[in-house]
Amino acid sequence: MRFEYAPAPESRSVVTLRDSYGLFIGGEFTAGSSAFKTISPATEEVLAEVAHAAPEDVDRAVAAARQAYERTWSAMPGRERGKYLFRIARVIQERARELAVLETMDNGKPIRESRDVDVPLAAAHFFYHAGWADKLGYAGFGPSPRPLGVVGQVIPWNFPLLMLAWKIAPALACGNTVVLKPAETTPLTALLFAEICQQAGLPPGVVNIVTGDGATGQALVGHPGIDKVAFTGSTDVGRQIARACAVSGKRLTLELGGKAANVIFDDAPVDQAVEGIVNGIFFNQGHVCCAGSRLLVQENIADEVMSSLKRRMATLRLGDPLDKNTDVGAINSRAQLDRITELASSGDLEGAQRWSAPCPLPGRGFWFPPTVFTGVSQAHRIAREEIFGPVLSVLTFRTPAEAVEKANNTPYGLSAGVWTEKGSLILWVASRLRAGVVWANTFNRFDPASPFGGYKESGFGREGGRHGLEGYLDVLAGGDVLAGGDV
Ligand code: NAD
Repeated sequence: MRFEYAPAPESRSVVTLRDSYGLFIGGEFTAGSSAFKTISPATEEVLAEVAHAAPEDVDRAVAAARQAYERTWSAMPGRERGKYLFRIARVIQERARELAVLETMDNGKPIRESRDVDVPLAAAHFFYHAGWADKLGYAGFGPSPRPLGVVGQVIPWNFPLLMLAWKIAPALACGNTVVLKPAETTPLTALLFAEICQQAGLPPGVVNIVTGDGATGQALVGHPGIDKVAFTGSTDVGRQIARACAVSGKRLTLELGGKAANVIFDDAPVDQAVEGIVNGIFFNQGHVCCAGSRLLVQENIADEVMSSLKRRMATLRLGDPLDKNTDVGAINSRAQLDRITELASSGDLEGAQRWSAPCPLPGRGFWFPPTVFTGVSQAHRIAREEIFGPVLSVLTFRTPAEAVEKANNTPYGLSAGVWTEKGSLILWVASRLRAGVVWANTFNRFDPASPFGGYKESGFGREGGRHGLEGYLDVLAGGDVLAGGDV
């Protein structure tokens, strides 16, 4: 059954957009060397002009972070640092609606997701790490683990505020200061976060935000004043950064791409599994590193699953991301839309069968309908390459061993899903999957207490949980001062 819904647009008036934004350095907004425009991917309207940080601007930001590290932050007892993180978390909650609307305007994701997932999880990351700041001595890294110093962080556009929280909260809790570069298509919530740092009274220079494109990112990760680089983004850029950091002595963590298998066994409750498949690949338009983009279905239930899945996909509502009824929003950029279109065409050319949900696409903006390919073989590009869009590739298997072999047949290793009623089968499969996260009878669940990260070309290092602290602590030094041993 398909229900008709009256439009329920969220108000844009909760957001005060400025015409132009500067760089956030040393606790203040300052002019950059040049500027670029950020647009709404749903309407292509220009939202604001944003400063582009040149290498000399990155220099200033790193110098401010170093000064704050040496003079204030690293010397501050963990219990005091924790209070700032807690305050930031509270302000994120207080300004949640404003953050959610701004995120949706700049990114194109449905307001339902930015409101119910991105922003609450961002606050949760700060709350969680506020709790660690004065307990680092009990985290399993020695009695007084030390911070690393100044951290350079580069993040992608798919979860702009949430990726910022994943990066900044643990870094600050451990006593480091940061220079963060948001993605060029989604800088606005990072700049609003800069205001939140001011509002929370965070000492100047502890958090610095430099906006710009890949060249700014390159200047940041290659800067000699950086002690650690934390990168989330594509595997190609991750490789370049790994090469740049290899001879520098900098610490590095990489959160890269994925091509997750979502494995459905024949005893799984089909309706529930179909919801999991839809959530796995169409959440956030499939712009999710851990998206369940390869569906592995046991052969004897493949027809039943496919007809249920198509029925469910036909009910997805695509359109205005600010409408509270919308399930599928806009593709984040023209470049990403071109990439999705090209990869989907390769599926046609290589002989897979395409089916798209019958939803009309708006005339302006960047859109791609929820799409599923059947008849996919493991050699097809759509089974091997990360599409990073609302496109699902379906393969079948007969035995658990075949499912595991196919699921692991990828250069990536970020996440996977298993659907079955048998606990023993879940454990058997999960222990054989080479993936950092394995969800059982659910998908795309996140919690700040749970470490997240990849194997193989999905990167290394973990974010979240006790394990995530390790990337921001000098765990080998076993030193005698700082970072929360001093409660
Ligand atoms: P991208 O690699 O093109 O860009 C990511 C960031 O790196 C952007 O801020 C960009 O400006 C910057 N950048 C580009 N070139 C750079 C360079 N040479 N040096 C330094 N910085 C540079 O990725 P994207 O298209 O923005 O994001 C999508 C990718 O991110 C996907 O592959 C996705 O899987 C991955 N991702 C991974 C995770 C994870 O946790 N593993 C989470 C979200 C996204």
